[in-house]
Amino acid sequence: MVRLGDFELTPLLDGYFRLDGGAMFGVVPKTLWEKRIPADERNRITMAMRPLLVRSDRLMIIDAGCGDKMDAKSADIYGFDRRENLDVTMARAGIRAEDVGIVLASHLHFDHAGGFTVKDTSGAVRPRFPNARYLVNDGEWDDATHPHERNRASYFAENYVPLQEAGVLDLLPDDRVIAPGIRVRRTGGHTRFHQIVYIESGGKTAVFAADLMPTTAHVDVPWIMAYDLYPMETLEFKRAFLKEAVEREYIIFFEHDPVIAAGIIRQRDRRLYVEPIAES
Ligand SMILES: [Zn+2]
Repeated sequence: MVRLGDFELTPLLDGYFRLDGGAMFGVVPKTLWEKRIPADERNRITMAMRPLLVRSDRLMIIDAGCGDKMDAKSADIYGFDRRENLDVTMARAGIRAEDVGIVLASHLHFDHAGGFTVKDTSGAVRPRFPNARYLVNDGEWDDATHPHERNRASYFAENYVPLQEAGVLDLLPDDRVIAPGIRVRRTGGHTRFHQIVYIESGGKTAVFAADLMPTTAHVDVPWIMAYDLYPMETLEFKRAFLKEAVEREYIIFFEHDPVIAAGIIRQRDRRLYVEPIAES
């Protein structure tokens, strides 16, 4: 847990999964990236799914991992390991799904939004957090409900359309204040409307970086995922963001880093590195 003024920030975990290492690092050669994160025999690297619990007078969760609706074929492709999962880590943090008032989405890819819904015993899909409003960027919603050949493998309607049917969905424009001290900022890049979350209190700033910098290896400006639909947007946003993050010593939450849940980005000579503050 990281205390930030009025907030307690707790990285949760919905387990681990594996993605192709080349796709995770774009133009960076394997000889470089495998020194930071080793690949398995199918060239995949292990990544965590770390939703962030934001505790103040109400409870908010940012993203919710992949959830448990995946079939056996996907389980093999992505190598899901959910022995540690959101139920277990929420219980450890002392909360129940019923307690969560706001669920905030960085974007709607399955490894972020899969846990927004659950399948009940009758096979019906319903909201996973029964008392929550779900906040989604309206442009992201349009894209997720109209997938194309390049992003279809990441968007599954069962993860978010049931929220609209249940009347618990709030679509928000870009760069909205969510609650006092909490705001979203559109980055584009990974998806057109991908957003990160700023939490500001007591003169300090924490940022949930989502897929802008999925792991600590991605703090280098050109280390950009091949999955990103608009990599030059990622590059420009990252370059400006990193300057601000180093100068103002932001606490960065890395959603997919297999080891480091949070850290501060520092610069020594011309190199950026992450000083960890929360590991798992
Ligand atoms: Zn992701």
